[in-house]
Amino acid sequence: MSGTDLASTDPRTGEVRTAQPETPAGAVDAVCAGAGDLFQERLSSWDAPDSGTSEPSRLLRFLADQLDRNRDELIAVLDRETALGSARLAGEHARTVFQLRAFADAAGTDRVLQPIVDTADPGRVPPRSDQRRINVPIGPVVVFAASNFPLAFGILGGDTASALAARCPVVVKGHPAQPFAGALIEKIIADALAAADIDPRWLQVVHGGSVDVGRRLVGHPAIAAVGFTGSTAGGMALVRVAAERRIPIPVYAEMGSVNPTFVGRHAAVERADDIGGGWAGTLAASAGQLCTQPGLLIVPEDAADGIVSAARAALSQADIIPMLAPRLAETFAAGVERAASVPGVRMQRLAQPDSSGCAVPAAIGEVDADTVLAAPELLEEIFGPAGLVVRCPVARMPDLARAIDGSLTAAIFADPGDTEWARGLIPILRTRVGRLTCNTWPTGVSVGWATVHGGPWPATSVPHGTSVGLTAAWRFLRPVAFDGFPLDLLPAALRTPGE
Ligand code: NAP
Repeated sequence: MSGTDLASTDPRTGEVRTAQPETPAGAVDAVCAGAGDLFQERLSSWDAPDSGTSEPSRLLRFLADQLDRNRDELIAVLDRETALGSARLAGEHARTVFQLRAFADAAGTDRVLQPIVDTADPGRVPPRSDQRRINVPIGPVVVFAASNFPLAFGILGGDTASALAARCPVVVKGHPAQPFAGALIEKIIADALAAADIDPRWLQVVHGGSVDVGRRLVGHPAIAAVGFTGSTAGGMALVRVAAERRIPIPVYAEMGSVNPTFVGRHAAVERADDIGGGWAGTLAASAGQLCTQPGLLIVPEDAADGIVSAARAALSQADIIPMLAPRLAETFAAGVERAASVPGVRMQRLAQPDSSGCAVPAAIGEVDADTVLAAPELLEEIFGPAGLVVRCPVARMPDLARAIDGSLTAAIFADPGDTEWARGLIPILRTRVGRLTCNTWPTGVSVGWATVHGGPWPATSVPHGTSVGLTAAWRFLRPVAFDGFPLDLLPAALRTPGE
């Protein structure tokens, strides 16, 4: 490893500040080994009912309290490092505090542990033995913090909270573009651990400015699973590292997603201004740096003009913040250029009031369905304030839906007259995504038991997981069956009443 210092760029001004050094290789190994030792020391503690008193449940609550206590300082540090603005960061802070407490409540419940009791049936042919299964923690988890949601998907975000709720020790790599926030969150964690008097090996942070740190974490023999949010290239590189270990491990990577939106003819005619303006709003919000940003708007070719002009008008008036980091601004510019260079694409880059720091011009492209179907690169994510309107004959929309790679979400906008059209698309779309929304934009994702924030590749590397919502803990558990066991040797959750 290089041992170089991490650097933070102010997205508004471009000013670069040097932060802490990268965690040395020996320290990365020691952190992983410590998580592995702790896991082994706690093996027998899983059998007790949790009732919110286990070490990880208590830690989750103390983390929420400390995050609350440090709210204003954290928002100020993050705003300088991300330019996301204090209002957006305050909302994300509240969500992250809620999420930590929700996972503390979820830990140890039947919805997480999923006990199944199948008592013996000697008369059945063939006879069935007494079988009882329950989920157990998979082992120490490595989490890669995301840049675009520095709190909700950050060091103390959903991957960390769900792994702790599964009673797995966690090692987190802070995002290299946000080292000052990373240092402050590390202090928040230290204070929470001390206040709760909890073994610090439950939650440890490392810092990396080169791919070496992440590769070393994923390759360490004590690590049993990985949670990641970021680029397809980064996620797939880590999938390969994990697959090439002596003992391969699962990598739950959430990566690129185009999140198609399909508009029915009646909706397109009746609600052109609402749909066009609303879509532009999703491209502009947080400079489009949302994993659920609906980058592809598929509209009936003969009813598209109103939507396109409403979207252009709204986007040209929007106040768009700079992108999070120079690397993202460069990737965005290259993505817009890639799409614009495809013959048949009419790309309009909108005027940019401020070109300092990581500011980029927003863009809307227009293209017809045949061009998209012949140029799969137009179906790749452009992460930032850009989107593509596809003018498509209604009869060809199913072909387009089939051509789109896996996404986190798809939206349909349908008026009552569009019901038959929607019935034809839904069976296709649900094979492509983890979540469908109807007459609403998919950008916000609330945290609950039914939430799905996942989907087929390249949205994620494991299609049956979710990285948002309380069942995110299932990724870090695995089922074990107890066959023919007396009740007093079973975990408490499997000793059913009356037996
Ligand atoms: P990134 O480049 O994938 O980095 C995310 C994390 O993975 C960082 O900690 C990075 O560490 C590590 N990493 C990346 N490549 C690696 C490799 N080959 N081996 C080991 N570790 C590796 O993501 P980003 O910088 O946050 O954003 C870049 C792009 O990711 C965006 O332009 C966007 O396309 C995508 N993105 C998608 C989402 C989403 O929700 N779908 C969210 C955020 C970003 P190092 O830099 O230290 O190597």
